[in-house]
Amino acid sequence: MQEYLLTCACGWEATGSENDIVSAAKVHGREIHNMDVSHEEAMAMAAPTAS
Ligand SMILES: [Zn+2]
Repeated sequence: MQEYLLTCACGWEATGSENDIVSAAKVHGREIHNMDVSHEEAMAMAAPTAS
């Protein structure tokens, strides 16, 4: 399965499948930035990792 590395503007990172990083970004956005992150916004911050 394709994995992604998501990097937030604050330096926080998450790795995993598309669903994993989108879920992690939604939680991170709410808890740290008080922001709702959409699926599209999360994927815009993500890059596929070579594996
Ligand atoms: Zn952040």
